Amino acid sequence: MANALLSSPVSIFALGGLGEVGKNTYCIENDKTLIIIDAGVRFPEEDLPGVDYVIPDYTHLRNNRSKIKALLITHGHEDHIGGIPFLIQNVYIPVIYAPRLAAALIKHKLEESHIKEQVKIVEYDENSEIKIDDFRVQFFQVTHSIPDSFGICIDTPEGRIVTTGDFKIDLTPIGPDINLGKMARLGTEGIDLLMSDSTNAEIEGYTPSERNVVSSINEIFSKATGRLII
Ligand SMILES: [Zn+2]
Repeated sequence: MANALLSSPVSIFALGGLGEVGKNTYCIENDKTLIIIDAGVRFPEEDLPGVDYVIPDYTHLRNNRSKIKALLITHGHEDHIGGIPFLIQNVYIPVIYAPRLAAALIKHKLEESHIKEQVKIVEYDENSEIKIDDFRVQFFQVTHSIPDSFGICIDTPEGRIVTTGDFKIDLTPIGPDINLGKMARLGTEGIDLLMSDSTNAEIEGYTPSERNVVSSINEIFSKATGRLII
């Protein structure tokens, strides 16, 4: 990048979600701006009796609260949005950008916690482009086990960062198709850092389409002889 020598370094770090399943919370920060991507919880396992949720340590965010400009949400799973009530009790988040389904889930969650008024939620779609100080943000549709999931591309003065969010390539999805064309274009233009998150990506082979769930449920219903509880 031409002006890289003049720009302040960009740091990328995880407050949760690396080396664990849950509490995904990633930060992109330079000298005057801090953007958070996702704010999840982790569900405790048997070694944490009596604990409802495990949340990240927000100390760094509290210490840099004036730099926090936005929270970007990739999709509506709890390990990506479940931490929002806890996060906004720790620091002021000026705006949350989220896809439509996730935005609805977040609003419901905040109503339950009685903290709806303090937070501005803006829905984005694939055509949205957001400028946050020196950072330019755009989105691309992915497929996952919940509809309305997105990857995020952030252009910084130091280079382009792409995070896929959680995804699997599902060619017969329930909901919109993955935008492989836009992903390819971003790749052709050049990506300096790719953060990719796809469960079991290390294992060879294919994952069945989410659509298979429909036929499985139909089969269970058709064979049931009594009451079914799902
Ligand atoms: Zn997910």
